[in-house]
Amino acid sequence: MLFREIPGQARIKQRLIQSVRENRVSHAQLFLGPEGSGKLAMALAYAQYINCRNRTTEDSCGTCPTCNKFSKLIHPDLHFLYPINKTKELDDKKVTHKDFIITWREFLIENGSYVTLPNWYDKIGIEKKQGMISAEDADSVNHTLAYKAYEAEYKVMIIWMVEKMNNQAANKLLKNLEEPPDKTLFILVSENHDQVISTIISRTQLVKFTKLADNEIFENLKAHFEFPVDSLSNIALQSEGNYTAAKDLVELSLNNAESTDTEKDRFLILRDWMRRIYVYGAKQKEYDSLQEIIAKLVGDGSREKQKEMLAYSLKILRLCMQYHIGNHQLVKYSGEELDFISKFSAFIHPRNIRQIDEEINKAIFHIERNANANIIFTDLSHIIARLIKIPAVAHNKKM
Ligand SMILES: [Zn+2]
Repeated sequence: MLFREIPGQARIKQRLIQSVRENRVSHAQLFLGPEGSGKLAMALAYAQYINCRNRTTEDSCGTCPTCNKFSKLIHPDLHFLYPINKTKELDDKKVTHKDFIITWREFLIENGSYVTLPNWYDKIGIEKKQGMISAEDADSVNHTLAYKAYEAEYKVMIIWMVEKMNNQAANKLLKNLEEPPDKTLFILVSENHDQVISTIISRTQLVKFTKLADNEIFENLKAHFEFPVDSLSNIALQSEGNYTAAKDLVELSLNNAESTDTEKDRFLILRDWMRRIYVYGAKQKEYDSLQEIIAKLVGDGSREKQKEMLAYSLKILRLCMQYHIGNHQLVKYSGEELDFISKFSAFIHPRNIRQIDEEINKAIFHIERNANANIIFTDLSHIIARLIKIPAVAHNKKM
């Protein structure tokens, strides 16, 4: 990872680079900040920069053998700890973080190192359990760090989500945090200051990350994705300084645009959902009928599918709005879909589309973060029922 690949956080980059150039790298640092602020990406860029053989005053070279291995996360002096738990495949043995290292590297590379805990649990298949960093894993760190670096100047140990470490595990690490072996760098990454064990906090130097600015997110999305600028600008606003969430929203829309196999199923569910919302809005007694369709939206509980359904709904409702204002040529559908879009466009217009857009994206955001899908779809249905009652044209006020 190069510093220039990381959105924003200019002040932190400068401070880290300076510490290396002035040869005063602090041996144990805690990168603390909200999701999507770039803590893990920064930890990787820092580890690479310290060890790059041709670094400049601004960044790693990106091409030396060290950079090469760091970018693939396979450098022998780059170590990781992350929360884990037993999985279906690894149920009958004691699992350690080493069982997951290949999956971990793949996970970071797939996501450009902008990742969330729920996504990691999904990736290793422990969706319904909590991950943790065990005393055994902490012990193995001590063992690893007891040896000299293989080829780098600094051995680097990145502990992701250090708040998932219990007391017992933390105690095993304390001595090394206090007096690390020579040329060893600990970078602890956390999103919850209150949950990190205080003896760890007191032994680390704090590097505090803040949310990104909307324009930092927008510029980076624009540089990485071929996508309409208007939509990117909306997504940047809706992601509230969280680059991970912003990237997820764009990727979801892109995937949705490509897949066609289940699109018909989604259409039928969406049409049914909107019809029932419409009836529900008219007659408050239709609550049971609404719950029936919500069960279909929740489906088998897969968050991925729920998010895809929401992204699809958003796409179609945006088309309803285009149809409403006369841009019929943008609606590249025929048959039942076109029939639905043209009819439902009576209810979707410039006076409510922004809010509908916002609410659906909010729902995606919450599903991503493990909230109860039933409640989310129920709330969203109530909100849409209200929004589609907003008249397309403002009632004239008295002259
Ligand atoms: Zn290099």
